[in-house]
Amino acid sequence: MFKNVINFIKTQFPNEDFIPLHVPQFSGNEKKYLNDCIDSTFVSSVGAYVDLFEQKMCEYTGAKHCIAIVNGTNALHLSLILAGVKKEDEVLTQALTFIATANAISYCNATPHFVDVDKETLGLSPTLLKKYLSEIAEVKNNICYNKKTEKKIAACVPMHTFGLPICIDELVAVCNEYHIPVVEDAAESLGSFYKEQHTGTFGLLGTFSFNGNKTITCGGGGAIITNDDDLAQKAKHLSTQAKVPHKWEYVHDEIGYNYRMPNLNAALACAQLEQLEQFILNKRALAHQYHTFLDSQNIEYIKEQQNAISNYWLNTVVLKNRFERDQFLEQTNSKGVMTRPIWALMNKLEMFKDCPKSDLSNAEWIEDRVVNIPSSVRA
Ligand SMILES: *Cc1c(COP(=O)(O)O)cnc(C)c1O
Repeated sequence: MFKNVINFIKTQFPNEDFIPLHVPQFSGNEKKYLNDCIDSTFVSSVGAYVDLFEQKMCEYTGAKHCIAIVNGTNALHLSLILAGVKKEDEVLTQALTFIATANAISYCNATPHFVDVDKETLGLSPTLLKKYLSEIAEVKNNICYNKKTEKKIAACVPMHTFGLPICIDELVAVCNEYHIPVVEDAAESLGSFYKEQHTGTFGLLGTFSFNGNKTITCGGGGAIITNDDDLAQKAKHLSTQAKVPHKWEYVHDEIGYNYRMPNLNAALACAQLEQLEQFILNKRALAHQYHTFLDSQNIEYIKEQQNAISNYWLNTVVLKNRFERDQFLEQTNSKGVMTRPIWALMNKLEMFKDCPKSDLSNAEWIEDRVVNIPSSVRA
């Protein structure tokens, strides 16, 4: 039934018996920088590549500050702390996301509060959030509370799913109205822009991941970006065990974290960042091929919206129902073409099943139908 699709994907990735969903590509200065890093003996969390990577990330995203972190999950955790999330608070996020988003909220001993997404972007819906907040939220002394649970709503974490930018300016405007700080989970959207502004720069803080399957990778890694000088300084402090700078003494002024990215990873990250623009052109060309072909087959393909430029990290199709989705997964995977369904909704997982939530009809509709198809940068 999906024979045409399987054949088409195979023509896009010729000479491969098995076509993975997304694999890294190391075709630049990776080995050179890694060797240089080893020769320097600065392989840990102090070193020239860490500083260089942060500087290059600022140049690329347009953010004022960047702090390199060990991974995307910890970048989110630290950003939530910096946004002021405390024990017993609630943090709004989408039910349709990767587990890291909800886990990071839990590390703060806060409760994730799940809100619905838009079908067009797969990301947090500004209109549905606005309507929902008008029903459940109450602002007192510039602090937003959930009227039902009486808990503080301390932050909102939207996510740009598979690199598709949401209407982030609208979402930030809704959150501002309710005095809720925004932490943008841009883990999947390095190279994605909204109204010519990089994703992750709209909220108070933005976070990235450089895990092995992301658009660029440094093995494991993450980053926080912000335009706020104080928060940037605090992020660096907290990610380095909150050590007070001193020539020889070990003095720490609060409970900190060992969250700084090692120089070895940063060396890899610098080499990858140099190739980012090329990778994105390559991925956008593949997305165009997929889009044109799938249209001809009457299979729905999710495109970037108006004002949005997607990195097309993972290409995404929408099948007609759960049955057809399962057939698609079965047929492609048995023919060596790796495809994967979207995540199970967070509110359906055992540890988050009692968390507060809005109506989640769109997320449920998407969960039944959405599949990712092979999306690696082609050689
Ligand atoms: C990959 C990812 C993360 C976490 O990144 P790690 O570097 O693996 O910790 C967080 N959020 C989303 C949406 C992701 O896709």
